[in-house]
This record gives sequence, structure tokens and C-alpha cells, in this order.
Amino acid sequence: MKALVCGASRGLGYACALELAREGATVTLVARSGAALTEAAETIETQTGRRPATVIADLSTIEGREAAIASCTAPDILITNAGGPPSQSYDSLTNEDWQKALATNFLAAEALIRSIVPKMAARGHGRVVNITSMSVRVPVPDLDLSTAPRLALTGYVAGVARKVAARGVTLNCVLPGPILTERIAELGDTADALIADVPMKRGGTPEEFAAACVFLCSRQAAFITGQNLLVDGGLCRLTM
Ligand code: NAD
Repeated sequence: MKALVCGASRGLGYACALELAREGATVTLVARSGAALTEAAETIETQTGRRPATVIADLSTIEGREAAIASCTAPDILITNAGGPPSQSYDSLTNEDWQKALATNFLAAEALIRSIVPKMAARGHGRVVNITSMSVRVPVPDLDLSTAPRLALTGYVAGVARKVAARGVTLNCVLPGPILTERIAELGDTADALIADVPMKRGGTPEEFAAACVFLCSRQAAFITGQNLLVDGGLCRLTM
């Protein structure tokens, strides 16, 4: 199995890449920084004996998306992911802020899916997992730049998942609640307030999050598509 994992030099993308490598996948890591990618690849090699390929690419750009797509021919697994936006009040956001957020958290995943999923469908097998956010279900104060593009992606994935469902390809989204990564630490008070509100009284670990993603990439998850799985310790108080 070949897996293309985006935003994989640290955090949730990295954790997914490590777990996929542990399961025997041949992994390609995508991120913007060469040094961070090399370090991530070395750590994964140390832990699994399998050295991932790496590609330096900024997924907020068309060139970056093309580089990521070219780096891994015929992946069986695609994990879409990139960095999240800053916490900022809606009335201070500029058109440029919105362009960047849409490019990073919607258009990047859309371009990867548009290029890769038809080839998966032609081969009769594929798994796509999109890392979105709990904010798709419950808005987080001042993270509108995260919520809106991810809802666009959620709607898009819901449609494409049904379009290719009969071709052996599944597309799902996994929605992190507060998972203890560098990103969540950077959110400061917002993150502390979220973690304090988790019924389990803790943040999740990247390994716990990655386990859910890897399950959705497995043979056992073949009948699950078009779904949005919260990994949030019960934080979003919803009946369904
Ligand atoms: P992170 O910032 O720790 O890691 C992001 C990774 O993506 C890094 O490897 C980074 O280099 C890479 N990246 C960032 N921008 C990129 C770009 N333009 N092109 C290519 N690579 C890029 O974040 P994380 O905590 O791992 O979260 C991953 C995603 O999940 C983010 O979008 C984040 O907003 C979202 N999310 C995370 C949490 C959480 O609790 N950690 C909660 C809700 C949503």
C-alpha cells in the first residue's frame, strides 16, 4: 500500500504517517520545511525500519499541490491535511486572510482529491481521509477561518464519496477535538478552555487520533464512506 500524507512533518499528519508506516504502508510525507521533513522521516525510519519519501511543498499554492501529486504515483491512501489558521475575530479578517484559509483548508484537499480519486476509482480501490476539525460540528470562538473552509470541504467530500462509492473508494473526514500537538499549544487560552471542557478531562494524543484515521484506511472500514468522525473525548455535546 502506498500512502500520501499531507502536513506530515509534525502533529496529526505525522502521527498518521507513523501509524500507516507501522501497518506496512510505503509512505510519502508532504510539508513545507525540508529540515522538519527530514527529521520526521528519520524518526519514522527509526521506529518502523521503513524510510518515508519526503516532498517539500506548500499546499496553499497550485505549484505545491502539483508537486505533492507528482511525488507519489498511484497512492492507495490519501490523507489531506495542512496547518490551521490563526485565532482572529470575524470583524478583523481581510480578503487575503480568507483567500489563504480557503487555499490551505479547502482548495488543497479538493485539488488532491480531483487528481487522485479518479485513478483510485479506475483501479477499484482507494481510501481518502480528510483531517478537518470539531469546529465543523460546533463552532469554536474566533476560528471562523477554520470552520468555513472545512465546511466547504465537508460538503464536497459528502458528494464525491457517493459518486465513487461503487468503485471501491471511500472518502471520510476525521474531526479532531483538542489533540495535544504544537498547533494546539499555539492556540493558548482557546485550547486550554477547550481541554477543560472535555468530558474526559484531558486532550487527546496524536496516536489516538491517528488510530481512527488508520482504521478508516483499512480493509475493515470498506463499508464506511462519506462520514465525519469526531475524535474529541466527547467534547461536542451532540446526540449524533
Ligand atoms: P500542526 O500545526 O502541528 O501541524 C501541521 C502540519 O502541516 C505541519 O507538518 C506543517 O508543516 C504542515 N503544513 C502547514 N501548512 C502547510 C502548507 N501550506 N503546506 C504543506 N504543509 C503544511 O497542526 P496539527 O495540530 O497537526 O493539526 C492539523 C490540522 O488539524 C490543522 O489544520 C489544524 O487546524 C486541525 N485541527 C487540529 C486540532 C488539534 O487539536 N490539534 C483541532 C482541530 C483542528
